[in-house]
Amino acid sequence: MDYQKVFSEMAAEVDYIEDHGKVPSYIPELQNVDPNKFGIHLTTIDGQNFYLGDSNEKFSIQSIAKVFSLVLAFGLEDDRLWERVGVEPSGTPFNSLVQLEYEKGIPRNPFINAGALVICDILVSRLEHPKREILDFVRGVSGNPAIEYCSRVAESEKLTSFTNAALINLMKAYSNIHNDIDVVLDVYFHLCSIEMTCQELAQGLLFLANNGVNPFAEKRVVSESKSKRINAIMQLCGFYDEAGEFSFKVGLPGKSGVGGGIIAIYPGHYSIAVWSPKLNAKGNSYKGMRILEFLTTRTKASIF
Ligand code: GLN
Repeated sequence: MDYQKVFSEMAAEVDYIEDHGKVPSYIPELQNVDPNKFGIHLTTIDGQNFYLGDSNEKFSIQSIAKVFSLVLAFGLEDDRLWERVGVEPSGTPFNSLVQLEYEKGIPRNPFINAGALVICDILVSRLEHPKREILDFVRGVSGNPAIEYCSRVAESEKLTSFTNAALINLMKAYSNIHNDIDVVLDVYFHLCSIEMTCQELAQGLLFLANNGVNPFAEKRVVSESKSKRINAIMQLCGFYDEAGEFSFKVGLPGKSGVGGGIIAIYPGHYSIAVWSPKLNAKGNSYKGMRILEFLTTRTKASIF
């Protein structure tokens, strides 16, 4: 596949697309970003790299980090994990409370906030130094020991954390949170505050395009079966109540974050990270989705 040619066409497309999204305001610190930033980086499993724009600039990965935390927790818990969190699409916004009461404190999947909070609770139970070990894991798979949390973003989210606090309290009432609520929230806010570039993200999650093995380090991160399942959850749940739309338009497993990032995986081929801070009404990067749709349309290659 001649990705270079597609990327040249994409550069024109990026300028052509009118950006209709908005930078989110509910985490105040996330507003301190230039809304017109745009970066994209594609890494193939045989080591080719294609990139455009601000692909080497760090941004707040937010919910994309939920892929890393899921990988870690799944590795530690195996199938016991699914007693505490489901694998079904929620069809509701990422921070929705409504299903949780009906479903007795068991979140639909690990990518909505409720599910990611349960995953953080598991990591708090299982790891001696959860924040340090999560960061070490992300640094390890991404090949960059300098990746950091952003304490300003974590603090900013903590100050406006009313919905996440409601979610975790409700789950605690249903005994699906085992640790102290403030400890788990602190891990969650730090997880979401990780800052990475498109290049680091594409590299860091490339193992999901290669049956669980990081092709550069020749290191297995998760089993083949777990890699398949994580991709399946990304396909069905990675974009909350827009997961169908992303599947329909892009046709790849993916995960978004309110920092404007998206990671998408083409199993057997590549991983791609895109960053464009303005979000659509569902909290997913407006331009990011449009450009990934352009990519899979032009290359005529998706999982479908
Ligand atoms: N930290 C954000 C929150 O909890 C993550 C949401 C997202 O990226 N979709 O609201």
